[in-house]
Amino acid sequence: MQYIKDSIKNINIVIGCDIGCLYCYARMNNNRFHTIEDFNNPIFFENKLKMLDNKKYKAYLLTGQSDLSGWEDEWLVKVFNKMSENSKTQYIFLTKRPDKIKLDVTPDNGWFGVTVTSSKEKFKIDDLRNNIKAKHYHITFEPMFDDIGKLDLTNISWIVIGTETGNRKNKSVSKKEWVYNIYNQAKEKNIPVFMKEDLLGILKEDEMIQEFPKEFRGINNV
Ligand code: SF4
Repeated sequence: MQYIKDSIKNINIVIGCDIGCLYCYARMNNNRFHTIEDFNNPIFFENKLKMLDNKKYKAYLLTGQSDLSGWEDEWLVKVFNKMSENSKTQYIFLTKRPDKIKLDVTPDNGWFGVTVTSSKEKFKIDDLRNNIKAKHYHITFEPMFDDIGKLDLTNISWIVIGTETGNRKNKSVSKKEWVYNIYNQAKEKNIPVFMKEDLLGILKEDEMIQEFPKEFRGINNV
């Protein structure tokens, strides 16, 4: 997934994922540029570890071309060690399969998130909280296939909302009322919400809300 340019930087330290989402832009990129041979077989780029020392950005997304559930333990140990050396920088992870992960200890500057795309997937939020012990949790709702309904947002520190991009046949388009249902529940709990630019057209410009957790602010006027 992509975040607003110049606010959160992607470091694709792992590339590849075998989940097989139909709308996967990372797989499409790899088909085009052939960065790795087989996208279903994730590769760890250890030479990128030093990029985690970069202080230019306050927050880095580490799973822009992978899913945390596909990371090997050895890769996680190396990345967590680097994160601990850079305690003021925030590192963001996302997964669609929190049921496949078990992490009892994570660095305090790690942000662990789950992607939820429909009301049938809300159980994944509990899986995230139960299976990964972390200081910060977040949820991404993108793409959205229906109205998510009522959410348990206990201990959630950030919410990202988007819609499917690209020209896929039968692509799913988020509805304004679905977006606002999530937004209103987040506001009841003072959780920052980031609506991705892709929602422009579904929402008017003055309806777009782009908030970050306070830990991400301080650089690049975020
Ligand atoms: S989980 Fe992410 S990286 Fe994996 S196939 Fe789906 S969209 Fe692509």
